[in-house]
Amino acid sequence: MILQDTEPEVKSTRLADLPTGSRGVIVHVLGQGAFRKRISEMGFVKGQLVKVIKNAPMKDPVEYEIMGYKVSLRRSEADLIEVISPSTAKNMVAAKYEGTIDEHRQKLSGEKKGKIISVALVGNPNCGKTTLFNYASGSTERVGNYAGVTIDAKEAKFKQGSYEFLISDLPGTYSITEYSPEELFVRNHISEKRPDVVVNVVDASNLERNLFLTTQLIDMNIKVVIALNMFDELEQKSAKLDFEHLGEMMGIPIVPTVASKGRGLKALFDRIIMVYEERDPIVRHIHINYGEEIEKSIRNIQHELKKDVQVKHDYSTRFLSIKLLEEDKHTLNLLKGHLVFETIKQISDRETSRLELLFNDQSETLIADAKYGFIAGALKETYRNGPQARRDQSREIDKVLTHKVWGFPIFIFFIWVTFQATFTLGSYPMEWLNSGIGWLGNLLGTYLQDGALKDLLIDGIIGGVGGVIVFLPNILILFFFISLMEDSGYMARTAFIMDKLMHKMGLHGKSFIPLIMGFGCNVPAVMATRTLDNRSDRLLTMLIIPFMSCSARLPVYVLLISAFFVSYQGAVLFLIYSIGIILAVLMGLLFKKTLFAKKEVPFVMELPPYRMPTFRNTTIHMWHKGSQYLNKMGTVILFASILIWAMGYYPRKVEFSKDYGKMQSEVQANNMLTQEDKTTQTEQIQLSKEDERQEKSYIGMTGRFIEPMIRPLGFDWKIGMSIITGMAAKEIVVSSMGVLYQASMNADENSQSLKEKLQEQKYSRGPKVGQKVFSPLVAFGLMVFVLIYFPCVAVVAAIKKEANWRWAIFTMVYTTGIAWIAAFCIFQIGSLFI
Ligand code: GDP
Ligand code: MG
Repeated sequence: MILQDTEPEVKSTRLADLPTGSRGVIVHVLGQGAFRKRISEMGFVKGQLVKVIKNAPMKDPVEYEIMGYKVSLRRSEADLIEVISPSTAKNMVAAKYEGTIDEHRQKLSGEKKGKIISVALVGNPNCGKTTLFNYASGSTERVGNYAGVTIDAKEAKFKQGSYEFLISDLPGTYSITEYSPEELFVRNHISEKRPDVVVNVVDASNLERNLFLTTQLIDMNIKVVIALNMFDELEQKSAKLDFEHLGEMMGIPIVPTVASKGRGLKALFDRIIMVYEERDPIVRHIHINYGEEIEKSIRNIQHELKKDVQVKHDYSTRFLSIKLLEEDKHTLNLLKGHLVFETIKQISDRETSRLELLFNDQSETLIADAKYGFIAGALKETYRNGPQARRDQSREIDKVLTHKVWGFPIFIFFIWVTFQATFTLGSYPMEWLNSGIGWLGNLLGTYLQDGALKDLLIDGIIGGVGGVIVFLPNILILFFFISLMEDSGYMARTAFIMDKLMHKMGLHGKSFIPLIMGFGCNVPAVMATRTLDNRSDRLLTMLIIPFMSCSARLPVYVLLISAFFVSYQGAVLFLIYSIGIILAVLMGLLFKKTLFAKKEVPFVMELPPYRMPTFRNTTIHMWHKGSQYLNKMGTVILFASILIWAMGYYPRKVEFSKDYGKMQSEVQANNMLTQEDKTTQTEQIQLSKEDERQEKSYIGMTGRFIEPMIRPLGFDWKIGMSIITGMAAKEIVVSSMGVLYQASMNADENSQSLKEKLQEQKYSRGPKVGQKVFSPLVAFGLMVFVLIYFPCVAVVAAIKKEANWRWAIFTMVYTTGIAWIAAFCIFQIGSLFI
């Protein structure tokens, strides 16, 4: 209806053909279904002005600005949008604000009021819901400057005034239709859990698009309070919004907030109480005016719906009617059991076709257009633009960071800096922790009586858990950098930079974010694949996530690299991570060719403005991960260390192949030797004895059993056992090595760090007796093996949950297979040269 009296002779072009820097006004959006719906929700609707910002690396995708917000589209998608020049458009009728129809509602409620108010946070991705949630409830959920961090409802309780609030943080959505799992989730949460008050978090720096969701909430006729978040950014732009007036017009109280600083939150929850108690003067239910024809259709459907008492009682018939006109399947299903179903279906089909014929556009688009018209009108009265300083800044930064040529090397550079810092900054606190643990071991060694307890504490617990805990600083540093990238908005750009490459694998740039998250921990990464719109994308991404080296693998690398690659630490670490990425690409290509048929769903990547990361967010991130790590220490890793230690300690009675005692007394009796020689030789014999005992322990027997399988990789049985125990969590590889290599050392070497023990470890028996167990080659092969094999129990469980058992088992088998082959090649080929 916006440009309905367009003269037929106006010449339009495709958006894709507009050169950089030019503008166009949208006259028509072609294409179907999901794409069309999505794109209109993003603001690509009739009458909107679009500006072409720039071409992305390798020319596709193209970046646009719409409603002051930047998004990127594929060339093929932009080809589906018809535009005309702004000057041509000026001569035509612009979107008109048709006002609102009030419907004062009698605010009577017979319900008894409890003292608990349930509140649900809904809003676009990135508007600050999680930040608000955290601040209000004192919780530490992850926040991030890109879509898809929140994938489930998070709940928390807190008190304010005489009420207790039960708030849930829902996934971010642009709309509550049925386009993606999140949208459905939010919609179901609202209609099934029926929160007392819905808080619509709105990004004040991007009102036009954020308010789209608000219009849907208005249709739903529920209690809503708007948190006008990022109010600081509005102030910074020196834009003016008469939010009180806006609230009055929409019948929804609006409270400005700055969630990241906690500003306005008390006022927000006070307002929620007022709305809940039904004494807020502003609250009323308005009807968005959809224009004469659509309103007529709504009335016709509504009339029929009202005949069904049950339906009338349970739902807002206006909302249902609008949804039916949008051809919303979910609503149709909802009515299935009802008497009126058949008639309703007929009527809504008839009305939809009538509208489509009349306006020559899909009814859904017509409704979206009308909603934008409503928003445009409401803002026109209340909003005054400031000089758009911040956005221009973002644009300048983007010119460099997503540059055609430089974008990629800059990205690699950032990652490299991250790894370098992980080592250099991390090495100091690591040394302190190391000496602290060595000191503790010595102390216990001196004061405890010999026996099983002393062994358990020193060799089992300090050797195992202590061996892993020293890597805490490294992990914190890694997370610090990842969270900087997330919070600043750079992470969202990486999807843009990587889109072309990801596309080659049959994936979207969007898949890149779960993959990057995988560097932190594969488990949330697997869950984050839910943000992808189609199942085969989700599966494919899930299958390659395990190659993204998670932080649990870091201790293994740090240990081995600092022991065997002293002069190239950062570079080797970078190489290992790269191997993972390259493998992911290769496997992605292979799977795309073999397992998944090509089917592409177009999508829109948005580019949120850059934001200065706050210290609070970053520390929350670090603490979150740090505490998870410590938690793992106290549970899984402690348990595994004790288990391994016990399996190595028992049985105590062993049939030795030689009489070590006799050998020792022979040495003592030999007068040809100096006193010093005697001591070393006796110790040597003692060592061999301890070694044989360990080999005859339970763990030794198991290790011997599996040794043939790993011998071709250059691993000894202790490495083999460490790998097996590492399936529970990869840090356990380190703690197991700590326990296993500990035992065969002299007492006075107890203070040595594990790194030094590995460097000196020698084969005590077998064909390689006297040779060192580890060489740089073996260490490298081991790192690659640990990188690739069996992700870990938690990841397998996550894949099972997101996909099914078969995919989980498949992942276990294929990763371990590739790991073996890779380590085999490294060792065998490497041995030819070294
Ligand atoms: P969600 O996707 O809606 O859960 O958004 P998040 O809570 O993850 O926040 C996205 C980003 O916006 C984070 O980097 C926050 O630090 C930042 N942020 C949140 N609230 C505000 C605010 O009021 N002002 C500013 N300037 N930044 C904010
Ligand atoms: Mg969130």
